[in-house]
Amino acid sequence: MTQETGGFAAFNLNPNILAAVAATGYEEPSAIQHQSIPIIMAGHDMIGQAQTGTGKTAAFALPILHRIDPAKREPQALILAPTRELALQVATAFETYAKQMPGVTVVAVYGGAPMGPQLKAIRNGAQIVVATPGRLCDHLRRDEKVLATVNHLVLDEADEMLKLGFMDDLEVIFKALPATRQTVLFSATLPQSIRAIAERHLRDPQHVKIQTKTQTVTAIEQAHLLVHADQKTSAVLSLLEVEDFDALIMFVRTKQATLDLASALEAKGYKAAALNGDIAQNQRERVIDSLKDGRLDIVVATDVAARGLDVPRITHVFNVDMPYDPESYVHRIGRTGRAGREGRALLLVTPRERRMLQVIERVTGQKVAEVRLPDAQAVLDARIKKLTNSLTPLVADAESTHGDLLDRLIADIGCSPRALAAALLRKATNGQALTLAAIERDRPLVPNSAPRERSERSGDRPDRGDRERRAPVPLAEGRARCRTALGARDGIAAKNLLGAILNEGGLAREAIGRIQVRDSFSLVELPEVGLESLLAKLKDTRVAGKQLKLRRYRED
Ligand code: AMP
Repeated sequence: MTQETGGFAAFNLNPNILAAVAATGYEEPSAIQHQSIPIIMAGHDMIGQAQTGTGKTAAFALPILHRIDPAKREPQALILAPTRELALQVATAFETYAKQMPGVTVVAVYGGAPMGPQLKAIRNGAQIVVATPGRLCDHLRRDEKVLATVNHLVLDEADEMLKLGFMDDLEVIFKALPATRQTVLFSATLPQSIRAIAERHLRDPQHVKIQTKTQTVTAIEQAHLLVHADQKTSAVLSLLEVEDFDALIMFVRTKQATLDLASALEAKGYKAAALNGDIAQNQRERVIDSLKDGRLDIVVATDVAARGLDVPRITHVFNVDMPYDPESYVHRIGRTGRAGREGRALLLVTPRERRMLQVIERVTGQKVAEVRLPDAQAVLDARIKKLTNSLTPLVADAESTHGDLLDRLIADIGCSPRALAAALLRKATNGQALTLAAIERDRPLVPNSAPRERSERSGDRPDRGDRERRAPVPLAEGRARCRTALGARDGIAAKNLLGAILNEGGLAREAIGRIQVRDSFSLVELPEVGLESLLAKLKDTRVAGKQLKLRRYRED
């Protein structure tokens, strides 16, 4: 990977931070990052109006990391988040961006986990504390000086914090912080209650808001599909089965994602290629030419790489990752419906990104209808239709070219014409599932209904394991996969693993991701933050009478 930092270099961030950003594969700062990073770097207080999906976490994490002193082993920045889930996400983002800053540590502080290790991590000198307000107040009750050295405060999703009733806790926290600190407030909306907080607790704040002009998008049929982040590839593969497309462009956020998705598509037989900023200009042109003339049907691109792309064949745009703002959404979907033709745009939305969807609908003045994943019957119908379409033109004259051969094969093999035709079909379709039962069996683990925010994570159905082997599921951000040598043959079911980890590890249920039980081993997804101490805690845990011995698992 090249260490290109694109537009990020202009910020004059600490080179170690820039290097970590380059390693994530981000190509350009998002709009909120463009505006916020210089303000926060300069030490001003700030009010940012932005929702999840705009890149707001990096918008404050990068400049805050720039401003802390890694040599000082004491809390310097406090980030408050409304939920444990967001706190973990933010903590993981900080760890990612601080990867090349030796000595910088991050602690996530939230309810449902024991207080002792959290307090210890703070006292041991974690510079970045990411906390939910309720649990942080519990800590303050034990040690009112715990935040005395914090000189940067970020309130993330402030409106959500107030909705969840954290107002009083926030006041307690403000009092425990030095008055000279820098304060940054991010909120999707700015109701009066938030303005009042800003008035009381921010000093001369600068305002940042992403300008959203109304945009028109005509001739493009838009739809969205709710899906969990780790199921996107499977969802894309299912959608491709039933969408009648000519050429298609898929948008993702990072260079790595372009490569991963393009190779998943190629593996399924699609003519697909990646397009990102690391690919040399002449190679990029070759990709676009191939898409134009049909040597390629699918291009998986980042926004930067697809700039200006004009290929009339494009009938579909898949927004696999959410765009940062409505403008880039409109820009992306404008890649289809060229020259007055009709186009279709699909947007994958994870539960946390629903707000962004509403913003897009408001700005474009159009409802983006919800669609569900195709069921097995729809997939079967689409496959048979494709087969019919490919055979129909051959039927007209194949008998004259291959009829005699057919007679001979029937005689040589000694079978009926129906048996021979069936054998030829099996060969021609190359093992593709063409019955409902076979499709059901092969189906990737994608629910056919909208995912709820915290549901169906554990996958505590042991029979899922074998199916997943064929379609390995990418890990969700902030999670690590761990392995135990206990599996179905040891009498283990997912619920036993879940119970043991919940009880002994002191984790909340939502903190535990997918559990896959295979015959001779099992895989469990756990939060990356605090993983080592969790594994240490589970060291002596036994399940079904045997030692669990959970270890971090690396696929490659
Ligand atoms: P957020 O709005 O902070 O929840 O970020 C949404 C997603 O965008 C996260 O998965 C980030 O890793 C990703 N992201 C943030 N900034 C960039 C960027 N400049 N380029 C590409 N991806 C980004």
